[in-house]
Amino acid sequence: MGDADSRAEVLILLGPPGAGKGTQARMLEERFGLIQLSTGDLLRGAVAAQTPAGMAAKSVMEAGGLVSDDIVLAVLKDRMQAPDVSRGVILDGFPRTDGQAAALDGMLADTGQKVTAAISLEVDDEAMVGRVAGRFTCASCGEGYHDDFKRTARQGVCDKCQGTDFSRRADDNAETARARLKAYHAQTAPLIAYYEKQGVLKTVDAMRPIAVIAETLQSVVANGAG
Ligand code: AMP
Repeated sequence: MGDADSRAEVLILLGPPGAGKGTQARMLEERFGLIQLSTGDLLRGAVAAQTPAGMAAKSVMEAGGLVSDDIVLAVLKDRMQAPDVSRGVILDGFPRTDGQAAALDGMLADTGQKVTAAISLEVDDEAMVGRVAGRFTCASCGEGYHDDFKRTARQGVCDKCQGTDFSRRADDNAETARARLKAYHAQTAPLIAYYEKQGVLKTVDAMRPIAVIAETLQSVVANGAG
């Protein structure tokens, strides 16, 4: 984040697949003009573009495992060179390992910054598999939907942009969702204690309705992690 404002927000959303990180990140992005940085999106972009990083990541992602820190950090650092990130960022799906958390602290320290808040979205594991399987997204504007929980008002038409093309992630099936949950508990959940020690952790009950969680997150951002 080269010439970033030293007070720019660096928010981290922690939580298992299906917890609503992407949905909430997009809402915070709209509300505060922050930039959502999703390493999952960056990696899917690299896979689609068939870059060397994407080719190395593809099979790991399909199996629901974690891509190596080297690859993830390379795609993230690349994205962080762009000038828009100086407005402040919401990290969605990063960091996911101790090594990534330490590397992030190092990157931020280089520009006199630190993590502003790490928000842990607390959810029931069992419900997550059902939430992940059945997700789909508008290919034009990225609005998220679900076969059971959030259908489009008009069949096949995006509520937000009226687009008619939708996509489903290859890893949004029950089997891969279980592997992703396992990886979350083994490698990512320990970061909750890491950020608690830094005094920046906020935990949020993310089993409540999307709008209620969004309000809670907005007050965390507006009032600081405190
Ligand atoms: P997500 O879109 O955050 O659910 O990520 C989709 C997949 O991309 C994950 O299951 C991992 O295989 C990979 N991935 C995304 N972010 C990371 C990360 N920070 N570290 C390792 N793997 C990641």
